[in-house]
Order: sequence, then C-alpha cells, then structure tokens
Amino acid sequence: MLEKKMEGINTNKVIEEFEASTKDAGGVQRETLKKILEENASAEYLQNLGLNGKTDPESFKSCVPLVTHEDLEAYIHRIAEGDSSSILTGKPILDMSLSSGTTQGKRKFVPFNDELMENTLQIFRTSFAFRNREFPLEEGKSLQFVYSSKPGKTKGGLGAGTATTNLFRNSKYKSGMKAIQFQGCSPDEVIFGPDFHQSLYCHLLCGLLFREEIQSVFSTFAHSIVLAFRRFEQVWEELCNDIRDGELSSRVTALSVRMAMQKLLRPNPELADLIYKKCSGLSNWYGLIPELFPNAKYIYGIMTGSMEPYLKKLRHYAGELPLMSADYGSSEGWIAANVNPKLPPEMATFAVLPNIGYFEFIPLQDNAECMYKEPKPVDLTEVKIDEDYEIVVTNFAGLYRYRLGDVVRVMGFHNSTPELKFVCRRNLILSINIDKNTEKDLQLSVEEAGKLLAEEKLEVVDFSSLVDVSTDPGHYVIFLEISGEASEEVLQECCNCLDRSFVDAGYVSSRKVKAIGPLELRVVWRGTFLKILEHYLGLGTVVSQFKTPRCVGPMNIKVQQILCNNVAKTYFSTAF
Ligand code: AMP
Repeated sequence: MLEKKMEGINTNKVIEEFEASTKDAGGVQRETLKKILEENASAEYLQNLGLNGKTDPESFKSCVPLVTHEDLEAYIHRIAEGDSSSILTGKPILDMSLSSGTTQGKRKFVPFNDELMENTLQIFRTSFAFRNREFPLEEGKSLQFVYSSKPGKTKGGLGAGTATTNLFRNSKYKSGMKAIQFQGCSPDEVIFGPDFHQSLYCHLLCGLLFREEIQSVFSTFAHSIVLAFRRFEQVWEELCNDIRDGELSSRVTALSVRMAMQKLLRPNPELADLIYKKCSGLSNWYGLIPELFPNAKYIYGIMTGSMEPYLKKLRHYAGELPLMSADYGSSEGWIAANVNPKLPPEMATFAVLPNIGYFEFIPLQDNAECMYKEPKPVDLTEVKIDEDYEIVVTNFAGLYRYRLGDVVRVMGFHNSTPELKFVCRRNLILSINIDKNTEKDLQLSVEEAGKLLAEEKLEVVDFSSLVDVSTDPGHYVIFLEISGEASEEVLQECCNCLDRSFVDAGYVSSRKVKAIGPLELRVVWRGTFLKILEHYLGLGTVVSQFKTPRCVGPMNIKVQQILCNNVAKTYFSTAF
C-alpha cells in the first residue's frame, strides 16, 4: 500500500491505531471508563453517588443512574454561574458548548474541555485517513461553508459558543486541520463575520478566487452546502462583477470582512468571463460544483439523518463528484467515524471509536415495552446486528450515562466495534393516539410526495410538520416549501400521498376509524424556511449546526407562527 505521509500526519499510522483499538473494543472501553472515572474521582456528582473510587463498569452502572440533560441542568447551571469547584469534573470547566437546539426546540449548555477537542481531532484524523486512502487529496485548499457564533460568556464568565465555534476558536484545531489538508480558503474574518448572508457571499467569492486550488467542498451539515449553492444561483453575476472589477459588492458591509476580502481581490476579467461562461452553459445548474471547482475530489459533510432530504439537490449540484458523509457526533462529544468512505450517504455507517468515551446502548426492539420498563443498556461489544438502540454516552467532560436521544441501528462490526447507522432522534415523533411516526417516517412520506412534484419538474425545498389537536379528531399538518408553482390537482395528490405514505399501523388504523382526521398539507411561500433559519440565528445558533425542525412542538411558538403566517395554500387529504 502506498505510504501517504503528509505534513504532520501519517495516515497509515492513524489507521493502524484505529485497527488496534477496535480489535479489543471491550478492553479499550473498560480502560476508557477507568480513565474518565479516575480523572474525575473528585467530582461532587460522582462522590454523591457513592462510587468511592471504583472504576469498573459493573460498579459504575450500579451506582450511576441513566440521565437526560434535564437531570443535569442544576449542576450545569452552577458551573455556568461560575462555581469552579469540582462539580461534574475533576478539573474546572472553562467553556460551555451551546447545542443548536434546532432538533428539540430548546438550546442547552453542555461542558466543553480539552479532551473533547482532542476527541474531535482524533475523529477527523481517523475518517480522513480512510478517506484519503480511497480519494487522495493533492496540495490545495478546501471551500468550507462554516460560520461561527459570536463569542459569548456565561453569567459566571465561562466561554460560551456553539460546539463548532469552540472548535474554530481553538488554536489546536487549526494546526490539526492543516495536518489533514483541511485548510479553508476563506479568511477568519469571513468565518467569524457578524452577518451570515455576507459571510456566505464571501465564502463563495473566495472559492471562485481559489477555484483551481479547491480540493474539497465542505460544511458541517450538508444543508449549508445546498443553501450556499441555492444562493449562488441568485448572486453569481454579482460575484462575477466583483471578480472583474476587483471590488467587493456593497452588500458586504461588515468592515472587518470587507478589509479581509479586499486583500484577496484584484481586477481579473479573464476569471470573471470564464465563470460567466461556465454558469451560462449549465442546464438548470446540474454539475455546478465540479464546473466551478475543476480539481475538487469530493464534497464532504454530514449527509445522514435530518440531512438526507437535501441529498437530491446536493447530487444535482455535484454532478459526478462523490458525496462523502462525515462523522457522527454531537455537542456532547463525538462518537463514531465514517471509515467506509466509498459508501453512498444513504448507506453511510459510523464505527465507534472505543477510546473517546464510554458507550452504552438501550435496546429498542420493542419500543412500546421500552417506554414503561426501566431501560437496561448493553455494552458496546454486546450490541446485535440489525437491532436499534438509543445511545448513552459517558464522556471526558462531565456527562455520565447521558441519554443523547439518538436512535442508531447496528449494521455490522469493524473488528469488535459496532458500525452504526443513524436512524433518527428518539423524541421526534408525530403522535396523536396510538400512532407513532419518527422524523424518518416523515422524511419517507415527503419523499414519496416529492416524486409527484418531480414529474412536474418541481422539488421540495424544505419541510416541517406539527400535530394539530385543536380539531376533533386531531390531525397531522405538513408544511412544504416548493421550488415553483404546482397545479391544484398535483398538490391535492401530494396531500393524499403524504397521508397514505405514513405506513405505521397505529396511524393507518386510526385514520380508518377516523380517530385521526385527514392530513393537512400547507404549502408555504418561498423563503419561509430561510425565515426559520434566520429566527434561530437571531437566538445565537450558527448556520453550521442548523437542522430544520421537522416537527414543531406546541412550545415552539415562534416557529409555529412563522410557518402558519406564511401559508399560501391548504389541502386536506381525501385518501381514506
Ligand atoms: P448538535 O449538538 O446541535 O450539533 O446536534 C447533534 C445532533 O445532530 C446529534 O445528536 C444527532 O441527532 C445529529 N447528528 C450528528 N451527527 C450526525 C450524523 N452523522 N448523522 C445524522 N445525524 C447526526
């Protein structure tokens, strides 16, 4: 095998280390737990639970309860308020990550520390090593649609930002990214710019300026890449003008961003003409990305779970360029790396790194039973192929037996560590009585309706849903933003199709006996979902971590208002 040695990282060595730790995943897990518990033995939380210095999994499980974020809120609150005693960890926590809150509607603080930073780099190194074996990069840059939140402080003076912001701000991150040839082409001022629209425009401009050097196109979640190229369709001529004249558009007003960009710009009519010609020659923007960036090897970002609905559009922009789904993790810490980069995103799996945390899995075979019984998690190496589990994390930053709320399926094993497929968030379900539909069920239903729209050369831009129990009986409401005008007949058929495509037995039987009313389709105006994104940005979320809320709960009043105030047309299903 070809030795791929690059500045700072020997990919063969990274792969060897991964192989070694996954060969004895069970042993590495015990060691990891021991390390976590030793480092944090003085933490008040663990002391109160009577662990008394024991570090074996059996004692750990018998003393420490399974918890959710809610159970830890009082402890996290004290840390955020500036109490620097050993509360959840041995060493004081200096930074908090703010989760995006876009899946659950509520933003939450979770502790961040150097160990989580190191875990992140380990995950990135691992998946890069496998990726680079199949798709080697040359010297160059990466076009990265990444955005940082404003650096904030908690009441007690701890650093507070989104998890990605905590990464981008960390000096180790930059050197770590350089080592895996993952240097962005945009100046920091663009990433840290105060306005996301302006930053997005400048990311696109930087990409074009360095177009020959671009080796990969990246965003944390695929949604940002689709958003960026949808924007490109609108502003490409303006971008060409900027390049032609060497002058930045007046739409970018942030001084720091203007100054940084102006340093990169000089009049370049040849490049402007070339891009103009390329864009004019494309049919409906198919293959836009490789056309603009002829040396790009792949597109990279999280494309699984709630990102799957964007794959169709992403493929359209990508043409023949491979799509590679990035790793699996959360603000609470990383879990698993994509070590099979050749698999298409729909089949992507994630191999758990046994040394970055201690992981347990709550079996979900019989969902109904699980709701009532005390869950009995199994260990990392005890999981069974083809079964679904809720994942429980113990990390190096003060979370012990923490229910992440994600459902994963075991697809196989890499040595003795499981390869997981992300299924959905556990709590995201449409439910009125005995029916239960997950985010995945909703996605499949919308995909079916999308096929009817595709026949009319239209597409679903984005979607969401809610349960309306103000009617009797209650019913599902699905909001669709569509790329253009569809006829009344097609939209009525879409509505019926959505209703029919929820195949959950509880739903179907409830619909038949009219215990659930006809599904309602509300078509919203173009730009509605951008308003939702902007609403979250206003709350401090970053685009990099944004996930469209697919099911809007009654507490999420603002998002409900945005959706309900932008309805263009309404249909009720006649399917049952
Ligand atoms: P946040 O903490 O806001 O960044 O969100 C983390 C959540 O994003 C996780 O708990 C998952 O639900 C979702 N997520 C992260 N990585 C992936 C992935 N590779 N595939 C699907 N969903 C993911």
